[in-house]
Amino acid sequence: MGVAVLGSTGSIGVHTLDVLGRHRDRYRVVALAANSNVERLRQQCLMYRPRFAVVVDAAAADVLAQTLRAAGSGTQVLQGAQALIQIAAHEDVGIVMAAIVGAAGLASSLAAARAGKRILLANKEALVMSGPLFMQAVREGGATLVPVDSEHNAIFQCMAGGLPGSGRAPQGVRRVLLTASGGPFLRTPVRALRTVTPEQACAHPRWVMGRKISVDSATLMNKGLELIEACLLFDLPPAQIEIVVHPQSIVHSLVEYVDGSVLAQMGNPDMRTPIAHALGWPSRLASGVESLDILRAAPLDFEAPDLERFPSLRLARAVAEAGGTTPAALNAANEIAVGAFLERRLAFMDIPVVVETVLERHDEAAAHSLDDVLAADAWARREAQAAVIAAAGVSA
Ligand code: NAD
Ligand code: MG
Repeated sequence: MGVAVLGSTGSIGVHTLDVLGRHRDRYRVVALAANSNVERLRQQCLMYRPRFAVVVDAAAADVLAQTLRAAGSGTQVLQGAQALIQIAAHEDVGIVMAAIVGAAGLASSLAAARAGKRILLANKEALVMSGPLFMQAVREGGATLVPVDSEHNAIFQCMAGGLPGSGRAPQGVRRVLLTASGGPFLRTPVRALRTVTPEQACAHPRWVMGRKISVDSATLMNKGLELIEACLLFDLPPAQIEIVVHPQSIVHSLVEYVDGSVLAQMGNPDMRTPIAHALGWPSRLASGVESLDILRAAPLDFEAPDLERFPSLRLARAVAEAGGTTPAALNAANEIAVGAFLERRLAFMDIPVVVETVLERHDEAAAHSLDDVLAADAWARREAQAAVIAAAGVSA
């Protein structure tokens, strides 16, 4: 089966290639795609020999094409965001790993859905912003959507096969318990959060991830986005999903049924497990993940999240209830705020402040089409930029 890895140079992309490399008899890497990391993409092309390599940045694409030609590689280099869409829908591609970060992954993830591919979805922002429209594209395109986000992959496993978007939701689910590690600042005094740096925010205690999702994990906005993601994937109202802090990250989420049974999926915190599961489902594939030493992992702790410390959770729950274009506004405002924090233009504690400011100004509206979603996204980005400048002025 031919695979396209969109976002191959990122954390999920690298883990995906590691799993694919263990199963060269079953999967063929047809395309790799990234924004601009030419050196890593060059190495990946020489190792996996894809037919196509897509580079969004034009200058980077030229450099890659030259170096690959010099190395005698037969990989064809395509350039630009439009090429991501072509690759996601290409006839030689059966499986699309959607692992671009943020709204930049929306068009290609949707293209894969419309073309009826098997989509391994890591790019949660695409789903959050376009919501029911994304799920509709999956249904109408006849795509197979398998969640890669570890919590959603866990929930999917505990729901025994009711594929997201298939309309075959499992019977008798009482609620879902979505676990959160709590991130690097679970116990940091709130006062000290005022001065945390991007380096501190990106030093996650359990997972090594890209910078954007690392900051989201520190604010817990990641869990807020995941709440919305879970509602969409499993067709559940937000009230049926509870967030539980579980610092060890061994239980990846739980599903409770009406008879009182609670099923959990467990394992070492290593993304190769949900990636291999999503790739092989319904078969099981070796992933290279170490066996869980449950005695060393114990004890396993669970606690309620602190909504004062993590206002993102409160915001995201309200947004999940609101629906329409509100999730797109939330996502866009958060992307801008996180970007500004990573560039040291915004204080950590002001990330949720910027998001809340934008949400307060947002007029709730239905999302009838992708244009509605993109308009809300563009509007929220502008408002968030202004809110970042205002917040920086206040703290200066
Ligand atoms: P990352 O920053 O490590 O990698 C991002 C990838 O996207 C890179 O390959 C980059 O080249 C590509 N990219 C960035 N901007 C692009 C653009 N404009 N056009 C095309 N490509 C672009 O991020 P990551 O940690 O691998 O996360 C990727 C996605 O997976 C995110 O949506 C994240 O929320 C989700 N996710 C990640 C993890 C994890 O453990 N890292 C877990 C669950 C979900
Ligand atoms: Mg997750």
